[in-house]
Amino acid sequence: MNDFKALNLSSDLMRALESMKYSVPTPIQAQAIPVGLEGRDLIGCAQTGTGKTAAFAIPMITTLINHPGKTGLILAPTRELAAQIVTVIEELSRWLPLRAALLIGGVPMGSQLRALDRRPRILVATPGRLVDHLQQRTVSLSSVGVFVLDEADRMLDMGFQPQLNQILRHLPAQRQTMLFSATLPPDVMSLAAKHLQDPVRVNAGPASKPVECITQEVRRTTHADKNKALASEIQARRGSVLVFARTKARTDRVARMLRNLGHDVDRIHGDRTQSQRTQALEGFRQGRFRILVATDIAARGIDVPHIEHVINYDLPQCPDDYVHRIGRTGRAGAGGSALALVTPEDEQQWREIRRKN
Ligand code: AMP
Repeated sequence: MNDFKALNLSSDLMRALESMKYSVPTPIQAQAIPVGLEGRDLIGCAQTGTGKTAAFAIPMITTLINHPGKTGLILAPTRELAAQIVTVIEELSRWLPLRAALLIGGVPMGSQLRALDRRPRILVATPGRLVDHLQQRTVSLSSVGVFVLDEADRMLDMGFQPQLNQILRHLPAQRQTMLFSATLPPDVMSLAAKHLQDPVRVNAGPASKPVECITQEVRRTTHADKNKALASEIQARRGSVLVFARTKARTDRVARMLRNLGHDVDRIHGDRTQSQRTQALEGFRQGRFRILVATDIAARGIDVPHIEHVINYDLPQCPDDYVHRIGRTGRAGAGGSALALVTPEDEQQWREIRRKN
């Protein structure tokens, strides 16, 4: 699909897309919108910047136009993201009688109560504030027909599971659920297994390929020998190393193991406070720690100019994250190396990564 016209969207929506200068759907939009329009549940593996907001907003708006009794709920982990989503929805529904309300923390309740009085058809919320409204019975989710969970991995990483469970209890069982996540760690997959019905999975990351100047290597190992393999690879290398692990617990474990071997190491993941993360990054940047161990989520957006090696202790779960990870070395033509530790259990995932990159 290389044209929005093929989707049979309402003329008001098409007009909005035109005014937003969206003429060609992005890969995630091309894959997710038809599935969303069918009303099916969906797991979208995509990060911010891929056009995922419109990928879920277009089907949601279309369903709400066709079903006047239904409402939509979008949950996002941060206030900033929630606010951005509302902006996109307002642009898309510019010529439509649909109102969206933003329910986020840090804002007085009064203005949100007034927004709720105006009967919004779409609620965009962060989990904590939505739970506050539910507890005070200032919002009802009984008419939600389309539910979107955006950046699910970050949501769980930030510890929102309890709030999420509370919210899910208020949602009708009969609904469409679309889950978007940049990575698909086990906790996200088990959330999906519990709350999505027969979901279609779509993948779309940045279309970029690894930069030429990065040397890519693979070392075959086993689960039992992985730590030894990592230690010897670090020993054999000079310069800074960014190590990616799959989970927070694994990140902690790898960092501890390397520290016990006498390396200067720090770590970043979602359970560390903002100031701990900042300190770790600063220390890495200044060369106080030669090694930084990180989860994908925590590492997103970090800009450390001097990384010489990226080691994939665990492979990324989304093949598209691979490019993202290894793109952290070899910046600005500086050269760099990327190594993947691959166990027999990883082979299929590794093939998938190779195929895509
Ligand atoms: P998102 O990942 O939803 O935050 O979108 C990333 C950026 O891409 C935003 O600035 C959008 O306005 C823009 N965008 C999304 N979809 C399209 C499209 N089909 N054509 C052009 N720009 C787009």
